[in-house]
Amino acid sequence: MKHVIENKLFSVINAIQNPVIVISCDKLQSVNNAFLEFFDVESIEEFYKRHDCLGKLFVKNNSFFTLTNIITKNQYWTDYLFMHPEVNRIVSIMNADNQMIDFELTIKKIENKSEYIIVFNDITEFIAQKNEYKYFAYHDHLTKIYNRQIFDELFLKEIENKKRYKDHLSILLLDIDHFKKVNDNYGHHIGDLTLIALTKLINKVLRINDIFARWGGEEFIILLPRTEIEAAYIKAQEIRALIEAHVAKELPSITISIGVTEVNDSDTTKSSLQRVDKALYLAKEKRNDVIKIV
Ligand code: GH3
Ligand code: MG
Ligand code: MG
Repeated sequence: MKHVIENKLFSVINAIQNPVIVISCDKLQSVNNAFLEFFDVESIEEFYKRHDCLGKLFVKNNSFFTLTNIITKNQYWTDYLFMHPEVNRIVSIMNADNQMIDFELTIKKIENKSEYIIVFNDITEFIAQKNEYKYFAYHDHLTKIYNRQIFDELFLKEIENKKRYKDHLSILLLDIDHFKKVNDNYGHHIGDLTLIALTKLINKVLRINDIFARWGGEEFIILLPRTEIEAAYIKAQEIRALIEAHVAKELPSITISIGVTEVNDSDTTKSSLQRVDKALYLAKEKRNDVIKIV
């Protein structure tokens, strides 16, 4: 009778899509089909011909569990995880097709034995989705540069840094000239591609510490830390000329107008934005122009 139950149990475990293992002293005792398929092996013996320990296959990742989390060298990772329920039981393992798969582990101790049964629940899609939400909380969906929300936060920090380190901080506010015509003449999709191409081009001439964000539809803002207004003006002219020369071969030509200012010691985010907005407004009188206001 017991044998029948075990057989039935075995069939059930084998039908589970996620890898399930029985492990003792970090040595695999039994595994289901999903586990064998994951590593593209026929048996536990074949697995051990290729790998010396399952735990060593957990890929290094700051927010996931890896063997480096275990302080004492002579402790099994299974015991460690079982005894530390506060530890994040998420691991990432490369499958036989070289794909990184993220798993959340469920660990149960088999009564009166030093064995554990572990289920590897595939949460790759959930993690990817979570990362995407996180990414788009700070980035613009179309152009993938910073959105206005994170810009506001970063701007406050940069103003603080500027004051604390008695440094310079300049702002460029950019607006595409007659962009409505691009949409009207070529369609909204080409308009979108033009916005993407423009941000890619500008990104190429910015430094790693510069902050580039989408301010609104066809308006962009750039913070240039450690930059005086004269240097910011030169940078703005460089960007203006770059866009005028070409955005991308297959896209319509465009020009941009840019307002420039430098944040001074008595400025708030509001007062400096008002000034750069005024500079842009003046640049718009001519278009394809850069105006700075000190
Ligand atoms: P100006 O030279 O005065 O700046 O003229 P303009 O046509 O650029 O200015 P206006 O503000 O009248 O129009 C901005 C246009 O930008 C209108 C809007 O449809 C377009 N736009 C805003 N966001 C997007 C977007 O995400 N994709 C596309 N394709 N167009 C956009
Ligand atoms: Mg505009
Ligand atoms: Mg415009």
